[in-house]
Amino acid sequence: MIVDAHGRRFRNLRISLTAACNYACTYCVPNGKRLQAAVSELSAEEMGGAVALLIEAAGIEKLRITGGEPLLSPKFDALLPVVMALPLEDVSITTNGQLLPRKADLIIDSGVRRINISLDTLDANGFRAIARSGDLATVMHGIERMLEAGIRVKVNMVPMRTRNANQILPMLDYCFERGIELRFIELMKMGHLRAGNQYLQDFYGMDEILEAIGQRHEFTRTDAPWDSTAARFEVPDRGVFGIIANESEPFCSTCTRLRLSSDGWLYGCLSNARRHDLRPVLELPRPQALARLRQLLTRALGDKQSVSFRGEVTVMKFIGG
Ligand code: SAM
Repeated sequence: MIVDAHGRRFRNLRISLTAACNYACTYCVPNGKRLQAAVSELSAEEMGGAVALLIEAAGIEKLRITGGEPLLSPKFDALLPVVMALPLEDVSITTNGQLLPRKADLIIDSGVRRINISLDTLDANGFRAIARSGDLATVMHGIERMLEAGIRVKVNMVPMRTRNANQILPMLDYCFERGIELRFIELMKMGHLRAGNQYLQDFYGMDEILEAIGQRHEFTRTDAPWDSTAARFEVPDRGVFGIIANESEPFCSTCTRLRLSSDGWLYGCLSNARRHDLRPVLELPRPQALARLRQLLTRALGDKQSVSFRGEVTVMKFIGG
């Protein structure tokens, strides 16, 4: 097992099926244009092979399928049963939910038990202003389908001062009523947010989120697993919510995540643009592939920040959120 001086190793793998997305969220893309697929994306077969190798070489236990928008990728249908058959503790999906009603049967039949759905507001106009595409009712319908099938749903919301901070309490009520864990993600200084005023203007930190919630609910902080990225809180008799406080309470020193981009690059850190080409490894015979992969993984682990999240020119769309 490859372990660094902080005791970190790669345990969680996130694979971005495609860089393409059917939204153009204000925090992800600057110009409102929808994202396109990368020039040369891995096939379903290559990606399945890559995950199998990474399980063996890195000791990956948990896999998250993300993007871009993973449900938009033509390889989603073929890849899902392949990764479900691999020796993993957990397979989950992160999606914006727009195609969820269409893919619901496939997901339910695959045996996936957990799904994270990104939803920043319950206001239809606000929704279109942030996502710059899509339809709120379709996402809500997708959420209901998952819940009816007994799949554990988490909802991810990025609170922003000028856009949806007033949705924190309505979103919390919506989630409590359905037994969903809502996770607030602090706005990250990625891509175009690294420069200009948008980040400073819209950043809405953990203290403010808790203050807004405290106006209506009493809550206590609960324990979270060692390498969890979210601080978790419980509102008695209502439910649990989380805050991914990358700025206010960085979790870099316990981060166990590894990311694989849709075009075959490994990233050891969301806050570091350094990347390692996995594609040539996929062409080697298995023993050589594993040996080469261990070298790449040692470098990728060295890319992790020691303490705090700096932000990076890299955008989530390329490497998966
Ligand atoms: N399309 C899928 C989705 O919407 O869930 C998966 C990819 S998306 C990049 C994953 C998550 O990253 C979403 O919850 C999104 O809100 C979040 N995200 C993207 N850019 C962000 C930023 N600058 N700060 C905080 N969260 C961000």
